[in-house]
Amino acid sequence: MKFTQAMLSVDEALSLILSTISPNQTVLSPLLEAVGLISSEVIKSPISLPTWPNSAMDGYAVISKDIKSATPRTPVSVELLSTVPAGSPTNIKVTSGKGVQIATGGLIPNGADCVVPVELTSANTSSHVLIKKPVQHGSNIRLAGEDVIAGTTLVKKNTIITPAVVSLLAAVGLSSIPVIQRPRVGIASTGNELLRMNESLSPGKIYDSNAYALMSLVKSMGAIPVWLGMAKDSKRSVSSILKRGVDLDLVLTSGGVSKGHLDLVKDVLADAGCLDFWSIRMRPGKPLVFGKIEYDNNASTPYVGLPGNPVSTLVAFEVLVRPAILKMMGVSNLDRPTIQAKLEDDIYNPDKRRVFARVSISKKGSIYYARSAGPQGSNIISSFVNADGLAICPEDTVLLKKGSFAEVRLLK
Ligand code: AMP
Ligand code: MG
Repeated sequence: MKFTQAMLSVDEALSLILSTISPNQTVLSPLLEAVGLISSEVIKSPISLPTWPNSAMDGYAVISKDIKSATPRTPVSVELLSTVPAGSPTNIKVTSGKGVQIATGGLIPNGADCVVPVELTSANTSSHVLIKKPVQHGSNIRLAGEDVIAGTTLVKKNTIITPAVVSLLAAVGLSSIPVIQRPRVGIASTGNELLRMNESLSPGKIYDSNAYALMSLVKSMGAIPVWLGMAKDSKRSVSSILKRGVDLDLVLTSGGVSKGHLDLVKDVLADAGCLDFWSIRMRPGKPLVFGKIEYDNNASTPYVGLPGNPVSTLVAFEVLVRPAILKMMGVSNLDRPTIQAKLEDDIYNPDKRRVFARVSISKKGSIYYARSAGPQGSNIISSFVNADGLAICPEDTVLLKKGSFAEVRLLK
């Protein structure tokens, strides 16, 4: 693999990463487990919906001609032949002057051509009902196929399976569907200073928050996080953790990618001949390793070594990893929605990088405003928590002044 030591722009880095990613394989998934995944084939309906004509109201199925003259003062009395609940077959034939009591969803008996809602009737005897207002032919009858006709397309290829789609597919009885497989993403942390949650703090040690951040980011996208472990700052430790990810779709680590003497991740990749680039013109998130983990002559797993600072990890994931996972999932739109917002604080860009500033958004009238969500250091996690989006200061702009408009990438 080519080793690009020069600093890359965000766009160059992203297109390089995306060029190595292809959508996952197709699987037949149980319907419920397919929520959030992308259909890999056209899905057609095996039946029509409604499958049989049925009542849209609780009321009385009658012949519309019989009740044309009905008024509240001169109601029409209809003889009741039966009661039709939802879910029961009926072989009753309605003839002139007769009808059935019917529940919502009940099958319309032969001969009846409308349903009079209960509200337009009053009880007479148990064998008769008084109809106080006429209804039109066809009123309150749901026709077979008015929602879906058997054989038509329910879901196009490359469509996200939303809860509404699940509702439709369940209604036609499809319990499993073809989708693009959920990516399995290996996650590891590097750093001698890291502690697990159950360990006690001692001076200089920190809890491994990036592991949790990355696991939850991956999970929230609908991919499967796979914990690979925590590596010490030694080539041997890093290399053995990376090997655990060989059969996954993507491996992510955090830490060990900048220029300190213990930042050894890039060296491990370079030694194996699998390092591509390791520096990007963005803030936060400048040091970043991209490469692959090879496990035989033909196959390899894409690998991204994210920076250790917690906000750098979050932002680099957002900008460079999220689109890659979406591509694996078969999603065609990899972009977040953006807005133009009026800045309530300056954004500085002293060294020609693309700056992603954490901002909270408000709207007054038709204008969005972006206020700094707090201190912008790459270790300040609390200001990311308060951020609705990332305001972008382009590479060639040294200062985006308060009062000017900036593009904001929405996170929520
Ligand atoms: P590094 O790139 O390894 O030098 O790390 C940069 C900064 O990020 C250091 O302050 C690290 O302690 C911190 N850091 C590295 N890994 C993690 C992690 N997994 N969780 C929280 N902070 C981390
Ligand atoms: Mg480190």
